[in-house]
Amino acid sequence: MYLSVTIPVMDPRILDGAAVARELRAEAAAGAARLAPRGVVPGLTVVLVGDDAASTTYVRNKEKAAREAGFAGKTLRFPASLPEADLLSTIDGLNRNGAVDGILVQLPLPKHVAAARVLEAIDPGKDADGFHPANAGRLLQGKPAPVPCTPAGILELLKRERVALRGARAVVVGRSDIVGKPMALLLMQNDATVTVAHSKTQDLPAVCREADLLVAAMGRPGFVTGDFVKEGAVLVDVGINRIATRADLERFFPGDAKRAAVFEKNGSTLVGDCDPVTAYPKASRYTPVPGGVGPLTIAHLLLNTLRLCEARRG
Ligand code: NAP
Repeated sequence: MYLSVTIPVMDPRILDGAAVARELRAEAAAGAARLAPRGVVPGLTVVLVGDDAASTTYVRNKEKAAREAGFAGKTLRFPASLPEADLLSTIDGLNRNGAVDGILVQLPLPKHVAAARVLEAIDPGKDADGFHPANAGRLLQGKPAPVPCTPAGILELLKRERVALRGARAVVVGRSDIVGKPMALLLMQNDATVTVAHSKTQDLPAVCREADLLVAAMGRPGFVTGDFVKEGAVLVDVGINRIATRADLERFFPGDAKRAAVFEKNGSTLVGDCDPVTAYPKASRYTPVPGGVGPLTIAHLLLNTLRLCEARRG
């Protein structure tokens, strides 16, 4: 008797962020194993203030990934009412703690806390997220520094998937300190010709159509439609947007039984900043949401922490 087995076929155009993330995590684990005989365990401490649902999930995943790689992963949880001064003194304690190599303060912080002041309080030599102005400056000048994890992970993905960057026309939509700006710098340093677009850019579709490589980091569900995409361009879809209406489900995932099942189970599903119906079909390669850029962020956090540990104690 023969069993009929259906093997799901992955779209060969997909830039497989999940697979590259597994490689990066294995490299982080190998780094931790190299340090272990000397009794050095890379330490990552995540600070979570408040109980934002998405942040709570991200933080749990970061701690879990750290432990799986053989790091000492720890989370300090505080109520949303924590005074800024107390948060600053917690960071001061972590800066002085020799077992802590990487410190990450989960954003967003409650309104009464000045995020910029908190991020600047982190020792730049323990800045696992690469958000400290000293490290942003080092990145600007092309000096070694922890680089924000999402753009750093994207660059690894593009390199490992052999996406040509030299001389390529790249358009980054979004200019945040966390994604857009460092992404643009990394692409420029890798010899792409980079345009940064934002909410005041005129005729955004025409600007985007110039791109051989289009990075969408806006936080607008399905905003980048086929009209924005040059035939054969590479699409990196950074956006993570939760949609919770049937109209959006039908618009972005018509006839997609797998998505419909996720939607039925959770009452929502995720879509990127690119429209899967009209934008993805024009791309030669693209990152899906979920499973594209998302997994790379945590993987790169481990590499940042490992490198900080090696620099301080290696
Ligand atoms: P952000 O700080 O809100 O920045 C959004 C950027 O997009 C801003 O520069 C804004 O322009 C621009 N923008 C917004 N609407 C626009 C429009 N209609 N046309 C052109 N530009 C527009 O967001 P972020 O932190 O960079 O995150 C962006 C997205 O990436 C979000 O969906 C976030 O969830 C996702 N994300 C994913 C990961 C991951 O691991 N996959 C990590 C980080 C972020 P202005 O500057 O002019 O306001």
